Amino acid sequence: MKALITGITGQDGSYLAELLVSKGYAVHGLVRRVSQDDGSRLRNLEPLLAQNRVILHSADLSDRGAIRRIFDEVAPDEFYHLAGQSHVGLSFEIPESTFMEVAGATLSLLEICRDLDQPPRFFHAGSSEIFGNPDDLPQSELTAFRPTSPYGCAKACSVNLCKVYREAYGLFIASGIAYNHESIRRSGNFVTKKIAGSVARLAAGENHILELGNLNTRRDWGYAPEFVEGMWRMLQQPQADEFVFATGELTCLRDFVMAAFEAAEIGIEFRGEGAGEVGVDRASGKTLLRVNPQFFRPVDPCNLVGDPSKAESELGWRPTIKGAALARRLVLDEITARRAN
Ligand code: NDP
Repeated sequence: MKALITGITGQDGSYLAELLVSKGYAVHGLVRRVSQDDGSRLRNLEPLLAQNRVILHSADLSDRGAIRRIFDEVAPDEFYHLAGQSHVGLSFEIPESTFMEVAGATLSLLEICRDLDQPPRFFHAGSSEIFGNPDDLPQSELTAFRPTSPYGCAKACSVNLCKVYREAYGLFIASGIAYNHESIRRSGNFVTKKIAGSVARLAAGENHILELGNLNTRRDWGYAPEFVEGMWRMLQQPQADEFVFATGELTCLRDFVMAAFEAAEIGIEFRGEGAGEVGVDRASGKTLLRVNPQFFRPVDPCNLVGDPSKAESELGWRPTIKGAALARRLVLDEITARRAN
């Protein structure tokens, strides 16, 4: 079996590449050129690249001709489309490129696959952000789309496009509607990575203050390696469909932070309110955390929690690492990685 992955250098792409290689796939990945490449983007793939278990091809998502040639050359059985600007907050600053990378590129890829004699099974990475301000609690595959960010709008558009191409052309196009999933491979501008990295620094005795936005925000947080397993399972089904991937549990950011500090055996106590809130070391009184309004979102989605029962019953997919357990896992992984470096 041959698989082609866009976004292979990202968090999910690297875990998915490992999973597919472990299942015996020949794995190909699409990477874009950047002017200053210090190799850090490929760090997670290094062991697979060294063993020639992954082959990389150069193309930006906007290079339709180049991507078409890569499809011809690789002739993948399965195609996993994970690439794109993935940061919700940043999408308020760069809405146009976010929309083009998420919705425009997905449309181009659907068009390429529509023209192929033997189109691959196509996985598309949707997002819980399509529900934004949802009518249902928890949300399921039947919940109406009410996005509250440019990123959510773009993902809503791409999930709808996938549905249209599935139904109009009979193509195997599957969309996974994933809730937040985290790991040590998240990039530093995501809150869980920022928290785990800061706690590891503080645990190592560094002088540092963690700055965060709204501590009352709540998320359905799961563990990335478990989510990529769900993506693969979707493409093994007899028919293409949409599936929600979520833990089904909401965790408040403040509780996530508490669990992260506890994992490093640092007691934290919260004082003050709103923009003036701080977290102090229970033993020394030293400030460990400060709320900074700069990190508040223009609109914060509320009550985004998914119902994974369809994925559980039809795919046999069950998330096991969530909420506070996830916070502990991320901190311990950060501490281990720091010691190894
Ligand atoms: P990352 O941000 O870690 O990875 C994004 C990937 O897309 C990187 O490999 C990046 O390459 C690539 N990319 C971005 N823009 C382009 C472009 N113009 N051309 C080619 N490649 C590009 O995302 P995740 O792995 O976390 O997420 C994977 C997918 O799942 C994304 O579509 C995301 O929106 C979606 N998703 C993720 C969730 C999560 O919690 N992780 C939740 C819901 C949906 P480079 O290394 O060059 O930057």
